[in-house]
Amino acid sequence: MNEKMLGLGKSRSVIREIFEYAKVRKAEIGDDKVFDFSIGNPSVPAPESVKNALTDLLCSTDPVQLHGYTSAQGDASVRGKISDFIEKTYNIGSKPISSPNLIYMTSGAAAALTCSLTALLNEGDEVIVLAPFFPEYRVFTERTGAKLIPVLCDEETMRPRIDRISAAINEKTAAVIVNSPNNPTGVVYPEEDIKALTSLLSKKSKELGKPIYLIADEPYRELVYGGAHVPYIPNYYDNTIVCYSLSKSLSLPGERIGYVSVSPRAENAQNVYLAVCGAGRALGFVCATSLFQFMMPMLLGETSDISIYEKNRNILCSALTEYGYKTAKPDGAFYLFVKALEPDAKAFCERAKKFELLLVPSNDFGCEGYVRIAYCTSEEQIRNSLPAFKALAESYL
Ligand code: PLP
Repeated sequence: MNEKMLGLGKSRSVIREIFEYAKVRKAEIGDDKVFDFSIGNPSVPAPESVKNALTDLLCSTDPVQLHGYTSAQGDASVRGKISDFIEKTYNIGSKPISSPNLIYMTSGAAAALTCSLTALLNEGDEVIVLAPFFPEYRVFTERTGAKLIPVLCDEETMRPRIDRISAAINEKTAAVIVNSPNNPTGVVYPEEDIKALTSLLSKKSKELGKPIYLIADEPYRELVYGGAHVPYIPNYYDNTIVCYSLSKSLSLPGERIGYVSVSPRAENAQNVYLAVCGAGRALGFVCATSLFQFMMPMLLGETSDISIYEKNRNILCSALTEYGYKTAKPDGAFYLFVKALEPDAKAFCERAKKFELLLVPSNDFGCEGYVRIAYCTSEEQIRNSLPAFKALAESYL
C-alpha cells in the first residue's frame, strides 16, 4: 500500500472535518441553531440558463454524441469557442493569449491544477504559493515529489509581498501559484501587484536561464464586488497557465467542469500543453464530462446572482467590525479572513463552537492566528449568527 495515499485518506481536510461535524450537530439541535461557515459550497442556485442549456442539449443532440467520450483534451468546437471568448473578453494586446489547441478540458479547477502541476514538476522542484493559500495546493504539489514553499502575504492587506517572493526564488523554483480573487482572504490582487510580481518572475527567469511558470488559479474570477478588476495574467506574463472552472461562478461545483489554458506566448507552450495532456492521461481523467463540456460555451460570461454574496459580505463585515473583530473588507470570492481573538486559531475555533459558530482555523492555509468564514450561506443564517459572533467577542473582554 502507498503510505502517502493512506495518510491522505485517513486525515480529512480540516474544512471537511468541520463540515461533517456540522451535519451531526444539526441533527442534534436543529438546522437553524448551527451556524456553519466552513465550506465554500455556493449557496446561490445556478441560474435558470443552466437548466435551459442542459434541457436544450438533452432534447436536441444525438445522445450517442452527447454522452460519448470526447477527445481527451476536450471537444474541438468547445475549445474553439472558449478560446474565442478569452480573446474577446480579456486580451488587451495584439498577440493571442489563448488557443483552442492549448486548452485542455478538465473536471473542475482541482483537476486543472493537478494536471498542470504534474505536467511541470519533477522530484525536488519547488512551487511557491502565496500564504494564506488553498490547502489542496500542498496535496497536489507534494504528490509529484516537489516541495511547496509558502510565502506570507502582507499581514495587513493580505496582498503579495514581492520582496519575500524574490527571496524565496532559487534554481529549484519551477512555478508560482497565484489565486485571485483569493481563497481564503477574498482579496483581489490589484494590477499593480500583478505587474510587480510578473516583472520579478521575468527577471528571475532570465537570471536562472529557465522559465518560472505562473499558474493562475481562477475559479473565483467573476466573483467580485464594487467593480473590482481582476487582471488577466497572460496579458502580463507569457509563461502563464490558467486553471479555471464553473464551480463557483455558475454554482456548479458538483458537476466538475473547467479547463487548463496554456498561453501561446509561453516558452515551450506546445510541450507544456502535451505534458498537461499526458498528466491527464496518467491520472486517468480520460475526458471531462461531455454534457458539461457542451454546455460551457453556451454560458460563458454568465454567473449566478453574485449580488447575494455581496449583500452577505456587507452584513457580516459591518457587524463583525462593530463587535471589534479585525478583517479587511474583501473585494471578491465569498470568504472573510478574520483575526482570531487569541493567538491560537484552533483554540479560538473551539471556543466559537460553544456558540454554535463553525469557523475554519487558518493553520492549514499556511498562516497562524486567523479564521476563515465562508459566507456563501443564506442571509438568514448570517443574520441569525450575529448575536453568536457578538457573544463570542464579549467572551474575550
Ligand atoms: N482553487 C481554489 C482556490 C479553490 O478554492 C477551489 C475550491 O474550493 C478549487 C481550486 C477547486 O475548485 P473546483 O471545484 O473547480 O475543482
